Amino acid sequence: MEKKSKIYNIRHSLAHILAYAILKIDPEAKLGIGPVIENGFFYDFILKKPINELEKVEDLMREIIRQKLDFKGKKITFQEAKKIFKDQPFKLELLEDLKKYGTTDFNEILKIKNKEKKPKKVEKVTIYQVGEFIDLCRGGHVKNTKEVPIDAFKLVSISGAYWRGNEKNPQMTRIYGLAFLNKKELEDYLEKIKEAKERDHRKLGEELEIFKIIDEIGPGLPLFLPKGAILRRIVENFITELQEKFGYEPIWIPHITKRKLYEISGHIEKYDALFPPLKLEDEEYYLKPMNCPHFMMLYKSQIRSYKDLPIRWTCTTTVYRYEKSGELSGLTRVRALTQDDCHIFLREDQIEEEIDLILKMIKIVYKTFGFNEFWARVSVHDPSMKEKYIGEPKVWRKAESILKKLVKSHNLKYKIGIGEAAFYGPKIDFMFKDVLKREWQLSTVQLDMNLPKRFNLTYIDKDGKEKNPIVIHRAILGSTERFLGILIEHYGGNFPFWLSPIQIAILPISENHLDYAKKLFEILKEKKFRIKIFEPKETVSKRIFLAEKEKIPEILVVGDKEKKEGTVSLREKGKKEIKEMKLDDLIEYFLNLIPKF
Ligand SMILES: [Zn+2]
Ligand SMILES: [Zn+2]
Repeated sequence: MEKKSKIYNIRHSLAHILAYAILKIDPEAKLGIGPVIENGFFYDFILKKPINELEKVEDLMREIIRQKLDFKGKKITFQEAKKIFKDQPFKLELLEDLKKYGTTDFNEILKIKNKEKKPKKVEKVTIYQVGEFIDLCRGGHVKNTKEVPIDAFKLVSISGAYWRGNEKNPQMTRIYGLAFLNKKELEDYLEKIKEAKERDHRKLGEELEIFKIIDEIGPGLPLFLPKGAILRRIVENFITELQEKFGYEPIWIPHITKRKLYEISGHIEKYDALFPPLKLEDEEYYLKPMNCPHFMMLYKSQIRSYKDLPIRWTCTTTVYRYEKSGELSGLTRVRALTQDDCHIFLREDQIEEEIDLILKMIKIVYKTFGFNEFWARVSVHDPSMKEKYIGEPKVWRKAESILKKLVKSHNLKYKIGIGEAAFYGPKIDFMFKDVLKREWQLSTVQLDMNLPKRFNLTYIDKDGKEKNPIVIHRAILGSTERFLGILIEHYGGNFPFWLSPIQIAILPISENHLDYAKKLFEILKEKKFRIKIFEPKETVSKRIFLAEKEKIPEILVVGDKEKKEGTVSLREKGKKEIKEMKLDDLIEYFLNLIPKF
C-alpha cells in the first residue's frame, strides 16, 4: 500500500466513520463508495430513513471518534468477503469486479473490456474494521480514531448521485464532508467559500446590473446592460490602445466562413465545438469558433517580403463555440466569447524581440488591473518523443531557450512543463491568483510552426527564396466575457475609479443646489467622467446609501457653502473623512486616478 499524507488518512478515515454513523441511524442502509476528494470526502448510500439533520450525523461521528477505536486492516479471501458483505449489494458488485478485472475503477474495467489492458490477478482483498464497522478498502487510514481532529470536519451537503456515475444505475444519496488538520483551517476555508459566494459574478452581475442571460436568447449567450457594456468598452479600449502603442495594427474579420476554410485548417475534422452549418446558395457556412484561419488567409492575400515582417495584427472579435449547456456558467463559460486575438507573423530571428514585447504588455495589463500575484507556465516539448512534434528540432530548441530566458529576464515566477507543448510549438500561459487565492489562466502566447505550413504561408527572404513564417497566437485578456467575470469577483464589484461604470455621484443637499449640481455634471462630463446626479427626492443619508449600494467610488455632496465658493465636498468609498475641494483640484485628482501606461 502506498503511503498517503496525514490529511488524506484523516479524510479517508472520516468517510469510514460517516458510513459507520449512518449504519447506526439506519441499519438497512446500502453502502456505495466513500473516497477522499479535494478538501474533504464523501460517501454514497441508499437510505431507508431519510437524513434531515447533518448535525446529528456529525454528533454521532464525534461520539465514534471519542471512543478511540483502532482501524484494523486484514487480508481475506473473496469467499470470506462475500460472507461479510452479503447484505451489501454494491460491495458485492465491487468484489465481483475485483475478482474478474483486478480493479474496481470503472475506466480501467472499460479498458480491459475493450482489450486495451489485461486484467490483474487478485487473490485476496483487504478489509478495514473500525468499531463494529467493516468496509472493503485499500487503506490510507489513521491508526486510531483519536488522531482525527474532532473540530476540524463538517458535513456540508446532501445530493443525489448515480451508482458509478451511470444514470442507468440506482440513484444514491451522497453526503459530502469537509475535513482539515485543525479548526482554524476549516474556519478559514468556510470563510473563503462564503466570501466567494458573496463575490460570485453571477450574483453581482445581477445586483449591479451588468449582464443578463435570457432564456429566449439562449444559455451561454450573455447580454450586457449599459453598465456592463461600459465595462466591456473600458477593458477593450484599454487593450486596443496598449496594442497600438506597441506597434500592433487592427484588422477586422467577419464572423462566418465557407466550409472550405475549415477544411484547410483541419477544424472540420478535429474541432468538436463547431455550431452546425448554415446552408446558403448550396454552400455551407460556419460560425467561426476561432480566428486563426481568417488571419492566415488575410496574410496570404498578398505577397510578403522579409522586410514586411513582423506583421502584428489584432482584432477584438467574437467567436462561437458549441459548449454543452450543462457546462455553461455566467460569464466564465459561454457560447459567444470575445477574444482580444492577435497573430504575429515573423521570421525565426525575430522570436526573441516579439516575445519580449508581449511580456512587457502582459506585465502592464496585470499590474493595471490589480492582479499582483501572477506566474508563467512555460510548456516545452519532450525530447524523448521527437516523433510527436512537427517542425525542426533546431527551431524548437532555440524557441524554447528564448522563452525560458525571457521569463527569467522579466523576473517572472515560472514553472517549466516538459511534454506540455502542443505538437506545433511551445507556449507560455499566464496564471494569476485573485484575492481569494484562486488561480485563473488568462494570457497565452503560443508559437506555431504548423498553421503557416498548412495554409502555405510564405515570405520572400533576402536570398529570394520562399520561406514559411512562424506564427505567434496571442491573447492577453483571453476573452472579454471571462475577464469581466474574473474582474467582478476579484474586486467584489468594488471597481477602482477608472473601471467603475459610474465613477461619480453628485448629491445636491436640496432643490436649491440642483442647478449647481447640474453645472458640475456638465463640467465633469466634458472631461469624460461617468457621473450620475442623485436628485434631492430623499434624504442625503439615504442617497449616500443608494450610491454606495451601486458601488460608486466617489460621492460629491453640494450645498450652500459649496455653491457659493465653487467647491465640492468629496466623500470616497471606504473612507470616513470628507474633503472639501476646489473644482480644478478635484478634476486633477480624478485624472490622476486613471492609470497611464
Ligand atoms: Zn478505507
Ligand atoms: Zn490563433
